[in-house]
Amino acid sequence: MTNAPVRYIVLHYSASYADLDLGVEDIRRMHLDRGFSDVGYHYIIKRDGTVQKGRADSIVGAHVAGHNTGSLGICCIGGLERATGPNVGVDNRTDAQKAATIRLVRDLLATHPGAQVVGHRDLGPTQCPGFDVRSWWASVDTGSASTVTTPEIPPTIRRSSRGQHVMTA
Ligand SMILES: [Zn+2]
Repeated sequence: MTNAPVRYIVLHYSASYADLDLGVEDIRRMHLDRGFSDVGYHYIIKRDGTVQKGRADSIVGAHVAGHNTGSLGICCIGGLERATGPNVGVDNRTDAQKAATIRLVRDLLATHPGAQVVGHRDLGPTQCPGFDVRSWWASVDTGSASTVTTPEIPPTIRRSSRGQHVMTA
């Protein structure tokens, strides 16, 4: 079965704790245990930003029920925090993972210019990948996305701006 044309580039998390340095071999083993013929994703992005190849892009993946044909699956390792446990999916991608994702998706879009960049949760009932991929990708496209966390406003500025915003009756 052919995986063309590619309509969706689907982002996932591995639903593993952020302190676990998993990679493609770990995910492949998990997926073989679940009866898949190989790792279900086409790409794995490790916590350090290393991009690893899963299935060949031309092979239909096993990552998004009902939409595997005509999609490419990218999995960022992580998505869970010890503090919130196994049932709360979050966006805890490292800066290196975000940067690697942007590079990879741009490369894939060059090959598949008609593809939409979406999250797993846009195509099915799941929290994966823990954030709104469409709006994140839109912000990447317009250049407003930062690969670093937005810095906190220093307390001194917060204090003075509060002082300046006095509403008078
Ligand atoms: Zn997923």
